[in-house]
Amino acid sequence: VQRSLVLVKPDGVRRGLSGEILRRIEAKGYALAAVELRDATPELLAEHYAEHEGKPFYAPLVEFMLSGPVLAVVIEGQRCIEGFRSLAGATDPTVAAPGTIRGDLGRDWGLAVQQNLVHGSDSEESAAREIGIWFPQL
Ligand code: ATP
Repeated sequence: VQRSLVLVKPDGVRRGLSGEILRRIEAKGYALAAVELRDATPELLAEHYAEHEGKPFYAPLVEFMLSGPVLAVVIEGQRCIEGFRSLAGATDPTVAAPGTIRGDLGRDWGLAVQQNLVHGSDSEESAAREIGIWFPQL
C-alpha cells in the first residue's frame, strides 16, 4: 500500500478549505496516517522544493508557503500517489478539470505563483523523501 505527502497550502488553510480537502481524500477511500497543522520554515521548504531552486517562481513560491500555516498530511491507500494527483487536478487552477480540488475550488489570483491549494507527491521516491522531511518521526 502506498503513502503520499499531501499539503494543504496556506491559501487552502486561510480559505477554510482544509476540511473539504480532507473530506475528498477520505471519500475517495484513502486513510489519513498523519495530519498536522504547522508553520513551514525556509529550511524545510528548501528541502521540499529543492528541484525548483533557481526557477523564476521559486522565491515567490517559498514566500507564499511561508505566508501562513500549512496542513501537512500523510495519506495511505492503493495507488494513492497517482490517485491524489488526479483528485488535485492540473497545476493551473483555471484549466484544472471541474470535479478536481483545484478545478472546483482553486482561483487564479494573477500572482507570480499558482496558489493552487494543495501539493501531492509525484512518485514513490518523492513521497518517501517528502514524508521524511515533514514527518521525520514516521
Ligand atoms: P505540486 O507539486 O504543488 O503538487 P505540481 O506538481 O502541479 O504541484 P510543480 O511543478 O511541482 O507543480 O510546482 C510546484 C508549485 O510551484 C506548484 O504547485 C505551483 O504552486 C508553483 N508553480 C509551478 N509552476 C509554476 C509556474 N510556472 N508559475 C507559477 N507558479 C508555479
